[in-house]
Amino acid sequence: MASNEKYQIALKYGKNALKLHERGLIPPYPKFYELFYTYSCGTHPELNERLNKLFAKGENPNAEVIEALYDKFLNPSVVEERLAAAADMMADQIHSVNQSIDTAMTKNDAYSSVLQSAVDGLGINADQQTLNAFAQKIITETASMQKTNAMLEKKLAKAKEDVTSLKAEIDDVRRDSMLDPLTKINNRKSFDLTITKSIRNAEESGEDLSLLMIDIDHFKQFNDNHGHQTGDQVLRLVAATLSSGMRDTDLTARYGGEEFCVILPKSALADSIIVAEKLRHAVETRKLHKRSTNEDLGRITISIGVASFRSGDTDEMLIERADSALYAAKRAGRNQVVDENSKLLAIKKENAA
Ligand code: GH3
Ligand code: MG
Ligand code: MG
Repeated sequence: MASNEKYQIALKYGKNALKLHERGLIPPYPKFYELFYTYSCGTHPELNERLNKLFAKGENPNAEVIEALYDKFLNPSVVEERLAAAADMMADQIHSVNQSIDTAMTKNDAYSSVLQSAVDGLGINADQQTLNAFAQKIITETASMQKTNAMLEKKLAKAKEDVTSLKAEIDDVRRDSMLDPLTKINNRKSFDLTITKSIRNAEESGEDLSLLMIDIDHFKQFNDNHGHQTGDQVLRLVAATLSSGMRDTDLTARYGGEEFCVILPKSALADSIIVAEKLRHAVETRKLHKRSTNEDLGRITISIGVASFRSGDTDEMLIERADSALYAAKRAGRNQVVDENSKLLAIKKENAA
């Protein structure tokens, strides 16, 4: 492509990005500009889908939403940086230990040859002077060898310490990479990996498996009334409520935005509906207070869709059924649990109302 043509295209994307800034009164900070520029290029379909949804509703995302989208889609992964730093440190450490071992081995060889040549030069009838010189040489060489070995020992001890702390850092990074930074519960990546494993396991073992898809009701309104920061606090509270009292084998994750999901292995539909109902009730009964002012923020409710694994299901099929049950719960009036079987009933009720 001619460079002028490239320039024109880039300019078009740039202008478009600025227009979006103006439309939403978003300050054109570099990272926000990068987000809108990427949107204009269309190279990140998931990001475009998110923004298009907002635009379709006639909403202009505010700076906070843009910041969250930037973190989600464009922020260079902190995890990768930490892993790369740990790998570099590990490589340096290995290099330094290798060098020390090489030095020690060279010294060791030299020590052996000195001893050998001393022994060679020592006749059966060696006189006192030769014996003294021989002893002196051995003492000197041994002292030097001891020094080298002590240094090597010290270096190895330090390397062991470093490798132990690097291992801890890598374990931390691995754990963090599975956690949602805001709510500190499992993130979408963790959910994706676990649901695939759980489905494989259910298929192989024939055991039950259920999935809850959960969405906070009218959360946009809550944010509008109380601000995004308070909204974030509510997300943390809901996440904590949804995680507490679950079995070790269950997995509660933030699916995205104000949506959560719970994977319930070895749980049939009927039991999972009971679990969902408990969670719905637990959230509904939590009183919300603003931390800074203790202002009463009323209550928040959630809607839940429940689906259970059927042999032959893919991840998408199970998620889709739970999601459409959730959608039915929303349409039927929110703050309720709807399962994949009662879905039609819920919608009929809505139509009759
Ligand atoms: P519904 O009952 O139909 O689910 O209504 P809703 O308002 O909850 O749904 P909608 O999808 O219209 O809005 C979701 C809202 O969730 C809008 C968005 O600002 C908010 N949200 C998403 N992620 C976050 C977040 O990380 N923090 C905060 N504070 N709000 C968020
Ligand atoms: Mg939602
Ligand atoms: Mg919602």
